[in-house]
Amino acid sequence: MKNYRTIFFLLFIGFTLSCADDDANPGEVIKSANLLTTGASANDILSNASFTRLHVEMAYVVGFRPTDEAISNLETFLRERTFKDEIEIILRPLGSPEEEDLTITEIVELESDNRTLYNLDDMLAIYIYFADAPSEGDDPDEGLFTLGASYRNTSMIIHESTLREFATRSVLVSLADIESATLMHEFGHLFGLVNLGTNPVNNHIDPDSPSHCNEAVCLMRAELEFGMGMMSIMEKNMLAKGAIVPDLDAECILDLQNNGGR
Ligand SMILES: [Zn+2]
Ligand SMILES: [Zn+2]
Repeated sequence: MKNYRTIFFLLFIGFTLSCADDDANPGEVIKSANLLTTGASANDILSNASFTRLHVEMAYVVGFRPTDEAISNLETFLRERTFKDEIEIILRPLGSPEEEDLTITEIVELESDNRTLYNLDDMLAIYIYFADAPSEGDDPDEGLFTLGASYRNTSMIIHESTLREFATRSVLVSLADIESATLMHEFGHLFGLVNLGTNPVNNHIDPDSPSHCNEAVCLMRAELEFGMGMMSIMEKNMLAKGAIVPDLDAECILDLQNNGGR
């Protein structure tokens, strides 16, 4: 009788353990984890606690592929700031949606039609769309442009057509520089900067543009997302540090280190 009880007890333990395994459903794609607000996965992207691998799907409209130099700069930046063991960047060409400009609703619809990678087991997936059309909110007469936007926890758009237009305006700043700055700036938002899922250790929030940094030269300056003044920041950085694309300043790096990053 005692032996039966032991066997029953062990069977019960085995059953509960297998139930726990079933709940995790290894291999099952659950899209909801990739449909959260910007900055909600900051710690997951920065640290190795839940995901050791990072896969970045870059979907681009044919003719609007980012330069190899910018892709390589982004990969270096991700290795510098996160603890991910494996980072893979996958490029996928797409046809044009044939839109004159893009609203956020259209951008979200395009993602649901075209995105192929979602989180899976220990792999965290990021989706970047390189568009052949500007943001609907742009107003060239007022000098208002959006170069890129991180609109969810693992999704961003780069308005590649706008970046290319900007690149023709400067002999000092190349397309690869503008792409690198925009990609890294938008990743900064996915990392939770500034105060967008990663708490600032010290206050360095730009009062005029929340979720941006108020330090004089920093990758998270609002100018690097909205174009206005971007060239002058890059030229200032060139003179001060000999590099065109600004780094994260000490305050932004401190915030990342405080939320699982490097
Ligand atoms: Zn920004
Ligand atoms: Zn900063």
